[in-house]
Amino acid sequence: MGIKILLKHLVVLLGFVMFSAPGLFANENTKTFVGATIFISPDHEPIENGVVIIEGSKIKQVGSAEQVKIPQDSQIVDVSNQYITAGYWNSHVHYTGVLQKAAKEDKENLGNLLSDMFLRWGFVGTVDTGSWLKKTLLIKKRISQNEVNGPQILIAGGSFVPEGGSPYYIKPIRLPAFKSFSQAKKLVAGALDDGADAIKLFTGSWGTPQKVVVMNPQHILAATEQAHSRGALVFAHPSDSDGTRVAIENGVDILAHTFPSQLKGPWDERLIELMHQNDVALVPTLKLWRYELKREGLPPDVINIVEQTAVEQVKLANQKGITILFGTDVGYMSDADTSEEFRLMHKAGMNYKEILASMTTSPASRYGFTETNGLVKENYIADIVILNSDPRENVAAFADVDKTIRNGEIVYQR
Ligand SMILES: [Zn+2]
Repeated sequence: MGIKILLKHLVVLLGFVMFSAPGLFANENTKTFVGATIFISPDHEPIENGVVIIEGSKIKQVGSAEQVKIPQDSQIVDVSNQYITAGYWNSHVHYTGVLQKAAKEDKENLGNLLSDMFLRWGFVGTVDTGSWLKKTLLIKKRISQNEVNGPQILIAGGSFVPEGGSPYYIKPIRLPAFKSFSQAKKLVAGALDDGADAIKLFTGSWGTPQKVVVMNPQHILAATEQAHSRGALVFAHPSDSDGTRVAIENGVDILAHTFPSQLKGPWDERLIELMHQNDVALVPTLKLWRYELKREGLPPDVINIVEQTAVEQVKLANQKGITILFGTDVGYMSDADTSEEFRLMHKAGMNYKEILASMTTSPASRYGFTETNGLVKENYIADIVILNSDPRENVAAFADVDKTIRNGEIVYQR
């Protein structure tokens, strides 16, 4: 037999094997996840025994096992008895502390930290609401160049405070203060020029453990006008009702926390209506309050009241239809576990669909990614999370992550 004929036989034989045994000669570029319950969006009924086909960095097809034809050369991943959602966003994190130190370090250490803090909990996207801009930009670059696995990062830069309002709890660090309308505009423009995607303000800031310093409304207006003229969003750390009111009335887009402090009396429930009228979104950070007040050595009954107040604020906001964006303050808070945040959101009356929306469709909409992110849908970016337990039965299941996939690559696997 001549060599040509031998080759021809071999090709025919290989072709036969490939077409008769899917997955044996798998195409690395195509992965098919079979057997899971798929939460394609918070508003749709999940697909039982579903199939998701990922090709490259995109979702190629989604449907039930009866509807979807599995490509012959695809890599098959059996995810029976598991649950698939779109990739999550955490809208309040900090690339400070250990991450900041690791920004220039070897990739293994940085990769492990990014995995432990974000990918392991399903986060494919994060909003950094305060860090050293240059360090976070470096981490962002190393992730985008595929040197390390990590989430997408949007940076809310600046961390501007009112005069005398640099937070006492981050001393000796002193944050830049707004002194006038024109200086505030200049500082905001500078932060955006340096690479920030959004702006962070402390509209109400704990200058001392006894006092919240409220930002001058004109300075807030200068910042929001400048940021909006450049298409950038403004986040505010409000602390109490006064810090919240000036933020809403002067164009802030997102409150980075609930505002449970009641040093000056009961919180102002009318602020919820005001948030609604001005389309201001809220990041609950409910788990943070207990963590923070314990560190301050406050008695358990006080801690319970503060936590309950924050839960009440989320409850009213959610009933009113205010956009809620999931966020934990991890990076400032060392504990990265998200399950307690899910339980507290549930305690605030949020069902699993609303919690899923706060991590997927709501951030996609607020940050301008609705055409590409937030859904398990054909032609969308292949950012998905695979869970071991059912969030319909217990919302803490959103923390029971088995795999995180970003841009079609498995970036975390338990
Ligand atoms: Zn924070």
